[in-house]
Amino acid sequence: MIEQFFDVSPRFQELDARAMELCRPEFEKIDAIRDYNQVKMLKAFTDNRVAATHMMGSTGYGYDDAGRDRLDQVFAQVMGAEDALCRPHFLSGTHALTVALFGLLRAGDTLLAATGRPYDTLEGVIGIGDAGKGCGTLAEYGVKYDEAPLQDGMPDYELIAEKAKNATVCHIQRSRGYSSRAAFDLATIEKVIRTAKQANPNVVVMVDNCYGEFTQTAEPTSVGADLIVGSLIKNPGGGIAPTGGYVAGRADLVEKCAHRLTAPGTGRELGCTLDSLRQLYLGLYYAPGVTAEAIKTSIYASCLLDLLGKNPLPKYTDPRNDIITSFETGDPAAMVAFCQGIQAGSPVDSFAAPEPYAMPGYTSEVIMAAGAFTNGSSIELSCDGPMRPPYTVYLQGGLNFAASRAGVLLAAQRAFDGQ
Ligand SMILES: *Cc1c(COP(=O)(O)O)cnc(C)c1O
Repeated sequence: MIEQFFDVSPRFQELDARAMELCRPEFEKIDAIRDYNQVKMLKAFTDNRVAATHMMGSTGYGYDDAGRDRLDQVFAQVMGAEDALCRPHFLSGTHALTVALFGLLRAGDTLLAATGRPYDTLEGVIGIGDAGKGCGTLAEYGVKYDEAPLQDGMPDYELIAEKAKNATVCHIQRSRGYSSRAAFDLATIEKVIRTAKQANPNVVVMVDNCYGEFTQTAEPTSVGADLIVGSLIKNPGGGIAPTGGYVAGRADLVEKCAHRLTAPGTGRELGCTLDSLRQLYLGLYYAPGVTAEAIKTSIYASCLLDLLGKNPLPKYTDPRNDIITSFETGDPAAMVAFCQGIQAGSPVDSFAAPEPYAMPGYTSEVIMAAGAFTNGSSIELSCDGPMRPPYTVYLQGGLNFAASRAGVLLAAQRAFDGQ
């Protein structure tokens, strides 16, 4: 069907048909998770009596913004959390994680990264090495940092037990970020939490839940996480939220974060929502379905790349705990071609051709393809990677599977036709 609109060679038409056939049983599993999460979502909306008036927004201080506070409650319920802040005032996932870390930690406390080095942008927040130097990192405020590196891509439970004894906050990252491990499933996260809490019952466990939301029928809060944190321009914004982030979990901890998001003593009572609430409600409502479309895109891509012998991670039959598929293109030309193919198959800026460029903070050049309605949104089809051997590309997102399938097929053809 794609060949009726775009140039697809007979070989790639065949590969596409084969991949669709192989993916069918996997898609059925994703549909079941989506349906469960969607009805759970509906129940949260009805239990909390969401009304049209809740979407009107506020200006100025935003006192008595009932729609803002109601959204927090809907979000908390759907995440299985006691309380939440689901707000446009978080400007990214990194900002939400920063608010949580600064909200929970005080001078003299220790932060333990239990699943190895955290996501790149957090190095400057924590103050690892010279990262963020002079910017007011946690380190500059007297917060100590410790790390339990992964062993063969899995948590080192013995080391976590040892190090958790001195930790105030234990950080777990669910999704893989720019690493070659699989995302952690809830059983693994639960085991890390149990290990840390057995060693130190007072430790607060915080999970970076970016890219993990709605990939399963439960969130890390239901396996013992005290706080989960994420971005609304990823899964839980449903491709509709124009900005924002969240923290959700124990009420006393969410309260601490509120005083860091706004000002100490002010907390959650302030923060006007302008015209954002309708989009945040609508995006959240759509999020289970949109996340499922992104996962299907990821599974299809993994299958197609597998058929092309590209050894993608994860495999198309693997369970999914985030929305990322990566693979080694093996050479810079193929990497650029694949990214340019994704761009060409995107609904916005399809006519642009991404090129590698030097980005601040990165040691090698980076290439990024994103033809998105929301700037930087990675729940929309996007792909990127550092221009160095083995030229690994990270592919994520896809608002709807039919179009994203075309995007992935065209990218693969552009990179690997003739091989
Ligand atoms: C995306 C992401 C973040 C936050 O990134 P932002 O670009 O600041 O929203 C943090 N951790 C992980 C694992 C992520 O995937």
